[in-house]
Amino acid sequence: TKWVYVFGDGRAEGSARDSHLLGGKGANLAEMCALGLPVPPGLTITTEACNAYYDGGKSFPEGLEADVMAALQKVGEMAGRGFGDPDRPLLLSVRSGARASMPGMMDTVLNLGLNDDSVLAMARESGDERFAWDSYRRFIQMYADVVMGLDHEVFEEILEDEKARLGHELDTDLSAAEWQEVIARYKQTISDELGQAFPQDPREQLWGAIGAVFSSWMNARAITYRQLHDIPTSWGTAVNVQAMVFGNFGNTSATGVAFTRNPSTGENRLYGEFLINAQGEDVVAGIRTPQSITEAGRIESGSDRPSLEKTMPEAYAEFVRITERLEAHYLDMQDLEFTIERGKLWMLQTRTGKRTAKAAIRIAVEMADSGMISREEAVRRIEPASLDQLLHPTIDPAAERPVIGSGLPASPGAATGEIVFTSEEAVDAVRAGRKVILVRVETSPEDIHGMHAAEGILTVRGGMTSHAAVVARGMGKPCVSGAGALRIDMRNRTLLAMGAKLGPGDVITIDGSSGQVLRGAVPMLQPELSGDFGRLMEWADATRRMTVRTNAETPADARAARSFGAEGIGLCRTEHMFFEDGRISTMREMILADSEAGRRAALDKLLPMQRSDFIELFEIMHGLPITIRLLDPPLHEFLPKGAEEIAEVARSIGVEAEALAARIDELHEFNPMLGHRGCRLAISWPEIAEMQTRAIFEAAIEAAKTTGAPVELEIMVPLVGLRTELDFVKARIDAVARDVMAEAGQEIAYLVGTMIELPRAAIQAGSIAEAAEFFSFGTNDLTQTTFGISRDDAQSFLQTYRQKGIIETDPFVTIDTEGVGQLVRIASENGRATRPGMKLGICGEHGGDPASIRFCESVGLDYVSCSPFRVPIARLAAAQAAV
Ligand code: ADP
Ligand code: MG
Ligand code: MG
Repeated sequence: TKWVYVFGDGRAEGSARDSHLLGGKGANLAEMCALGLPVPPGLTITTEACNAYYDGGKSFPEGLEADVMAALQKVGEMAGRGFGDPDRPLLLSVRSGARASMPGMMDTVLNLGLNDDSVLAMARESGDERFAWDSYRRFIQMYADVVMGLDHEVFEEILEDEKARLGHELDTDLSAAEWQEVIARYKQTISDELGQAFPQDPREQLWGAIGAVFSSWMNARAITYRQLHDIPTSWGTAVNVQAMVFGNFGNTSATGVAFTRNPSTGENRLYGEFLINAQGEDVVAGIRTPQSITEAGRIESGSDRPSLEKTMPEAYAEFVRITERLEAHYLDMQDLEFTIERGKLWMLQTRTGKRTAKAAIRIAVEMADSGMISREEAVRRIEPASLDQLLHPTIDPAAERPVIGSGLPASPGAATGEIVFTSEEAVDAVRAGRKVILVRVETSPEDIHGMHAAEGILTVRGGMTSHAAVVARGMGKPCVSGAGALRIDMRNRTLLAMGAKLGPGDVITIDGSSGQVLRGAVPMLQPELSGDFGRLMEWADATRRMTVRTNAETPADARAARSFGAEGIGLCRTEHMFFEDGRISTMREMILADSEAGRRAALDKLLPMQRSDFIELFEIMHGLPITIRLLDPPLHEFLPKGAEEIAEVARSIGVEAEALAARIDELHEFNPMLGHRGCRLAISWPEIAEMQTRAIFEAAIEAAKTTGAPVELEIMVPLVGLRTELDFVKARIDAVARDVMAEAGQEIAYLVGTMIELPRAAIQAGSIAEAAEFFSFGTNDLTQTTFGISRDDAQSFLQTYRQKGIIETDPFVTIDTEGVGQLVRIASENGRATRPGMKLGICGEHGGDPASIRFCESVGLDYVSCSPFRVPIARLAAAQAAV
């Protein structure tokens, strides 16, 4: 087995394609070397050697030692030095490097090979004693920490102590003699603490360091990191052993890090920092404040310390040339590490740089514009979910954060407003022109109007799939849920947060992206939907096959969705309209009526309200398709709960509280999600569906007058399992539609279809398609009914399932392609076999999930429908799925 790959002098045994074997760092060092860039020579021990090390019970595999020593011989020749040579010692860096970057997993050991003798040789050769002893003390510090396991704080304390004693402020103020004293104390401490001397033999040092890198693969930090980022343990880490170059060789030496473009804005300008007379991690460690690489960057930051551009113009010019070369080579923004030794530039690392969503878009668009990459590639490069960061106001990163509590980041974006504790107060305050945050222990369907009115929602109880979280995400409202350390005292109307006592009218800010709750109004940045974002989305739209609709029932949502590029409404849940204030009491009258006549009287009152809602919605969506779902939830959801509320409602509608309580009891169901809901309501009480149909058609006729372009009506019957159910309801819809159109003397084109959300419907889709003119997959209920798992109760055990590896992903978030997905596939095929070209779409939460959207593309759905704020995500994901 080939365990070791050498690079140096413009040649390399590996290349960028070998990252599985050489790790990201090693593969790119090889690549840079082969490009002829100045890279200190070195060798990479493969990830296979790491795996062999573990397979052999933590012992180095056979042949490794000989291979490394032979390769080191070559490295020494290229560097003009020898490992362990008394006069010209080869000093090494030992660096870990996994296939995927794992920052902070293990620290690098620099200056390896130094000991009490070679430090003298280094001093002699360089003519700079301070430099030699500074390097030695760094090595001891790092080696003791990383390899021998002695906490680095011990050394920092000694150094602080010495600096104080000597009256020095900076590390660079220490003289050679002073460093020697520090080193003596370091070595003494190591012997005292570990009962073992600091190793003087370079070979022992080297194998100690290599073993430590291998072992670090299994340290707790690394294991956790891998779990969080789905990195398999089997990948192993490579080890890079490289000749040292010295950034701490006086004032003509430096070390730094840079990005070829600004990683937070994406601006196409070199961006980076460096330190003169420093080594390695000094730049990131914050021991000294680094200086800007470019002069423009220096001016922008208002620093009076000179830029690299001014201080070392030649090295700077070469560095700029190299960054351009690397970007053109890798065709992406690079994150670079370099060192300058006495004026000579050395490249130590390059990799594709991490960036914010905003920067990612700007970079992709500008690279496509300049012809570096294609537009499809630009579209491919953006993580759809990351767009979420861009669609909401965010807290200004420069702002102070007066945190008073925290919960789950349930729905992204930030919002500021006065505290209100009830939905009624929220609505009233907003009518009066104020902005509010609705603060509740938890929310229920009756809070919908308050949630709508509020800028954001904060709950004390509930998880990421609590009512508040799901509804807020649907509305695109920022939400922090489950902020358990907060206390709401409803009696005194106060919110207790970390010792602060807040009440109605006090202003708070919530950050639904981090879960933080902050005191007062915190400065924010507004989203920017035009410019680069707009152009990237145009390119995405040109690529995709499926259309993207939205789930919306309010004018505000419909407008937002259209501005985000929605091409229609895939799900208008009519029941949400009945929760609006004022209407719920009429709705209750209807439910509580004991005769059809009574019900019709209440429905007559609801008709104009529902009609005016539809008119507004149709005007906003003119020219586009709208799927309207008939009433779906069980009726008891509209009824009051608890004696107090029942008494109040009974008073307001003029019935006895006992009679009301009895009716509520009657409607109680043990399993409401499998109870009297969906088309079952329309079959028991056809007058409800009839009223809704009338409202829809009257509104369509009315809206067509004002807009000229009528909407494409699609009326959807929920929870159909039997063909006969659909036949029954469809007959009512058609009859009312005929009546209304005859009254108006106007034809309106429409389709009647059904939601496929029961396994029986999916299996019988071929027969149901004889009556249904379209299908919309309601994958929330279809997931519940296929798994037999209630969405509202699942979170407790689904989390356990994920921890124990029973399932990989939450099937309510990403569609279960093997089960639920197969039902979707069967229904699509059988439906279209009966009715060729039948319109198919999805309207569950999955419609906004990129992985699920890929699945929808693969089964040939016509559209996906998702909440307004997910529309851009879905547009992008649909484009990526199509290529
Ligand atoms: P990380 O993965 O944490 O960035 P690296 O292996 O890149 O760790 O090493 C960290 C730093 O150590 C580098 O940025 C560089 O400054 C320094 N370093 C690494 N190798 C060498 C070398 N051969 N000569 C000089 N400095 C080096
Ligand atoms: Mg590091
Ligand atoms: Mg690095």
